[in-house]
Amino acid sequence: MELYKTNQLKIYNSLSKSKEVFTPLVEGKVGMYVCGPTVYSDVHLGNVRTFMSFDMVFRYLKHLGYKVRYVRNITDAGHLENDADEGEDRISKKARLEQIEPMEVVQRYTVDFHNTLQKINNLPPSIEPTATGHIVEQIEIIKDILNKGLAYEVNGSVYFDVLKYNETAHYGVLSGRNIEDSIHNTRELDGQSEKKNPQDFALWKKADERHIMRWPSPWSEGFPGWHLECSAMSTKYLGETFDIHGGGMDLKFPHHECEIAQSKVKNGVNPVRYWMHANMLILNGQKMAKSTGNYILPNEIFSGDNTILSKPFTPSATRFFMLQAHYRSILDFSSKALEASEKGYIKLMEAVNNINTIEVSNESSIDIHSWKEKCYAAMNDDFNTPVLIAHLFEAVKYINLLLTKKETISSEDLQHFKTTLNAFVFDVLGLKNDLSDDDSDKLSSVVELLIAMRKEARENKNWALSDKIRDKLLEIGIQLKDGKEGTTFSIN
Ligand code: AMP
Ligand code: ZN
Repeated sequence: MELYKTNQLKIYNSLSKSKEVFTPLVEGKVGMYVCGPTVYSDVHLGNVRTFMSFDMVFRYLKHLGYKVRYVRNITDAGHLENDADEGEDRISKKARLEQIEPMEVVQRYTVDFHNTLQKINNLPPSIEPTATGHIVEQIEIIKDILNKGLAYEVNGSVYFDVLKYNETAHYGVLSGRNIEDSIHNTRELDGQSEKKNPQDFALWKKADERHIMRWPSPWSEGFPGWHLECSAMSTKYLGETFDIHGGGMDLKFPHHECEIAQSKVKNGVNPVRYWMHANMLILNGQKMAKSTGNYILPNEIFSGDNTILSKPFTPSATRFFMLQAHYRSILDFSSKALEASEKGYIKLMEAVNNINTIEVSNESSIDIHSWKEKCYAAMNDDFNTPVLIAHLFEAVKYINLLLTKKETISSEDLQHFKTTLNAFVFDVLGLKNDLSDDDSDKLSSVVELLIAMRKEARENKNWALSDKIRDKLLEIGIQLKDGKEGTTFSIN
């Protein structure tokens, strides 16, 4: 039986501002959409924290037995410099400055994004659609909103009429802002703004002559507003109403508020059942952000090439550090905090390795079943990874007591213990065991030692021993290759 049938998962819904029991629209299936990166620069660790938080959510839902369709987009057009409706497109600007094609910018940073998330051991989403691949769908939504009278055209651009929408719906339902505070911080250049009201936001913008990313439309050659792509892609792949929508806390307003308004007008229903927002990673007391220069890149952490940390840290230690905070809590990045997490991570991995050497008894003196229940209870309580990790450290304590024979465990319970521990550590938290890589280092050292002994045997013309070493190694899948520079080996 699937685990979701016996586990009552609760999710904090940013819309109702409370924890709600999670019941998907279709039994056994979950549709989840997460706003992806704008691919105009390398992702910093703050971005990675948000994507890792939703990777953990994805992993736990899968672990519970749900079939999850996880859609995470790539923003490759339409996101302007200042998050509002003015300024240059972020990707176009980078392309102009570097004198390359916008799609070269997109390609470069999409590759970087994938590589970085792979290093941190995030699973790929089920679908990764791009904004530029869905211009047609976006134009169709604009036509529909115009037909319904909730948008208007000015000089080839189209704006969403927020005040009119707010007459029958609630603009601000997610962010809690009232309509007066919901002004998109556009620079009102000498009253030249085309908008009827400063709350309105762009659905389509006419491209000026320097704007190189442009598409034909009924209104002008131009490009879609940033918020529109997510409405188009989420509903295209997950339906008019779907289960989970995620993103960083900073996307609540205006991005997600606008998504709700657009989708609601287009389809007449609320698009999202559970809104989830991950909290910010902080550096030097401030939000980590590319625009302020207050950031660190994951690769700088892994290589140690930075001025913030005392030493390099592995992707696993970095992931573990982030999982030690709840996804809805602010997390402060510092060398000290990472050092402490690294110690904890090593302790956990040593225990994961040592569990294999525990000897079984007839009876168990520890209660593995209630420990397991506590692990599930933690994750069922809005994905509480810090509490889960506290229970994993309880498991470390058990393992050490079992190894020193101060406690006992039956064979059946030990099997259960191993399976549960591995499931939470590797499948749910997505950690990798770097310590087992130590074993491959040790293996290499042993082969090097045998190569040296074989060399000695050959120098002593002991061909029988030298051949024996070579042949025996080959039998176990290690091939020696003699070359000018000495002997090398490969492991099959
Ligand atoms: P962007 O590429 O700017 O659209 O950001 C990609 C994702 O990273 C969004 O979900 C943001 O909310 C998130 N994000 C940006 N800065 C931080 C931060 N300092 N901590 C956590 N998440 C962040
Ligand atoms: Zn989005």
